[in-house]
Amino acid sequence: MSHVKGSNLLNRHAFVKEKFDPDAWDRVLASLADNDARLLSPRILASSWYPFDLYNRLDLAMCQVLAGGDLELCRTLGVDSARRALSGTYRLYLKDGAEAILRRLAVLHRSFYDSGSLDVTYLGPGQCAIRTVYVPRSTLTNCLVAEGFYRTVVEMCGGLEVQVSEGNCSAHGARFCLFNVRWEDTVTTHPPA
Ligand SMILES: [Zn+2]
Repeated sequence: MSHVKGSNLLNRHAFVKEKFDPDAWDRVLASLADNDARLLSPRILASSWYPFDLYNRLDLAMCQVLAGGDLELCRTLGVDSARRALSGTYRLYLKDGAEAILRRLAVLHRSFYDSGSLDVTYLGPGQCAIRTVYVPRSTLTNCLVAEGFYRTVVEMCGGLEVQVSEGNCSAHGARFCLFNVRWEDTVTTHPPA
């Protein structure tokens, strides 16, 4: 079984606390099975590893409890996670431009997931392909979070008209997920090839 870093779960806790009513997080936890809720309470440890399945069940529970089952909440969560990361710990990366940050995601992915991979291929100005492998596979909610995250990262770097589409998805049986990210670049900085 693969695992994710607690900081990914803390992002969700912060998102719910900021965007919803004060009892929202407790309602989400109450909707989970006891074993899952126990892992997330009384607190989540940023540096601990948690089961990837738990992380997916938490996202699904958030959609069900807070959005009437609408999975779009996950895309909003991805947007929020990107803003949180790039206005905090990774703020300094913004000056390097979208392409450089997307390339760094490959390294960051290994900090947040104990298995799988993320590779970024630069396809030309304002266009990258992101290939992700999750073990054993991704989920619909996980990929919606990822879409929102990638789009916001590029927008925060000054990218305009950002489009993120997922061609392959391992949640649908493909061997890996493949995201195509396109944008109009307002920043001319490109890292060396
Ligand atoms: Zn996918």
